[in-house]
Amino acid sequence: MRLVLLGAPGSGKGTQAELLTEKYGCAHISTGDLFRHNLKNKTELGLQAEAFMNKGELVPDDLVVRMVSSRLRERNVARGFLMDGFPRTLPQAEAFDEILKELGQPLDGVLLLDIDEDFLVRRLTNRRTCRSCGKIWNLLTLPISVRGCSACGGELYQRGDDAEPVIRNRLKVYRDQTAPLVAWYKNRGILHEHDASGTPEETFRDIRITLEKHDIS
Ligand code: AMP
Repeated sequence: MRLVLLGAPGSGKGTQAELLTEKYGCAHISTGDLFRHNLKNKTELGLQAEAFMNKGELVPDDLVVRMVSSRLRERNVARGFLMDGFPRTLPQAEAFDEILKELGQPLDGVLLLDIDEDFLVRRLTNRRTCRSCGKIWNLLTLPISVRGCSACGGELYQRGDDAEPVIRNRLKVYRDQTAPLVAWYKNRGILHEHDASGTPEETFRDIRITLEKHDIS
């Protein structure tokens, strides 16, 4: 399957991508994770992206597109991919189309995760990530006694860009720059909308129904 997960920050793209990857065995390509990995390893790309990320702004299109283009040419995407956090602007979507055309791998669909903004702020300010295994948790649903990662015992931390003022900015950036992609993909008849305000399992069930209905596997 070749899918894009589209939705505001905190709509659950990462969590759905994990569930889909587990079930269908395709590559999960998160541009946010790729940037964080580069940042941690202090690569040239990481240093170029850092200032934008810290302010909750988008990294320039050419840097993102180059990174995605090289990731899509790696061998482990042969069984398909799930794009998480890309494309985020119209120029990125156009460049993505060109890359996929060149690779002869058209998109099967775009899954939109739909959710109310106030709810998102609450969800994002409570989001924690495990420093060891990268699993995403939420204090709203995590038992209060659990301090570490339930999967590996690792330390949980809050991403710097999950602080409230940065979140508000990231949501504005989403509204201004990414939301136009909804109409763009809708016009092409490949957009599938899902309510993402329920539990991850509920959203995942809806997504699976969509995939089965459209024969995407
Ligand atoms: P995410 O984990 O997807 O929320 O991404 C974290 C940050 O990485 C974003 O706020 C941006 O600064 C940067 N980023 C990730 N993906 C993209 C993209 N497709 N275009 C521009 N910047 C991105």
